[in-house]
Amino acid sequence: MGAGISNSISMSISTAGRSRGQVITMQGHHRGRGVRPRGAHAPFGRGPARLIRTTITAVLLAVVSLTGVAGTAAAGTSGPGSDAKLPTGLVAPGPGTPEVVPSNLVTDRTWDKETASLTDFTRNINDSRAKITARTDVGIRAAAAAGVINLANSTCWDEHAWNPTSDHPLGKGCDLFFAYKTSEGRAAGWRAANWFVANQAKLGVYYLIWQGRFWGAYAPKAWTDYQSSVYGCPNPANVTGCHYDHIHVSFY
Ligand SMILES: [Zn+2]
Repeated sequence: MGAGISNSISMSISTAGRSRGQVITMQGHHRGRGVRPRGAHAPFGRGPARLIRTTITAVLLAVVSLTGVAGTAAAGTSGPGSDAKLPTGLVAPGPGTPEVVPSNLVTDRTWDKETASLTDFTRNINDSRAKITARTDVGIRAAAAAGVINLANSTCWDEHAWNPTSDHPLGKGCDLFFAYKTSEGRAAGWRAANWFVANQAKLGVYYLIWQGRFWGAYAPKAWTDYQSSVYGCPNPANVTGCHYDHIHVSFY
């Protein structure tokens, strides 16, 4: 099951944040050297100047780490995926209200098993195992086309060595990150989650986890608490394990 979030995913996310932070830091140093005349630091002393730079750097890094997930940088993403036709008649994204399940929702659970046969376009890694199913490829591309997810913050295949039954190594599960600390970010996440629910029968959505809540196509009437003995969920303090910072979506 894709019940967990991969440690390597959160590492790659934070690594991306750090590398972006380093760019800003380097620009700051460069600018500082460029405009400061020789010896200009003398009245302030080397220590305070360094302290100010360090403080500015820390603030910039904090801003980057807070906003990085919502950014549009393409770090960690690669090609456009397959050119398979996207399904027609998808329900348009609705409001970002939590846990919207249309009263007339029709679900389809008759999806064939698929093997991961396509290169995972959400990963930019040189690993021949990084493959996803055609259904995952279509579902994620459709979500991106609908504007409910940001591919830069989305990742599917992962080895998940500690949990081989996860949908990630099977290419059937994806993690979609949002700026969960803000109400806008959480609303954006709900907008995406609700969109996947509304389009379950078109995309073959199997289940979703978001904000410590769970929705499955086999019990489609309502969201319920996401229970995990592995991650001790529900527990808002376990931000990643209990899926407060990202949507997990699995496809049949
Ligand atoms: Zn996941």
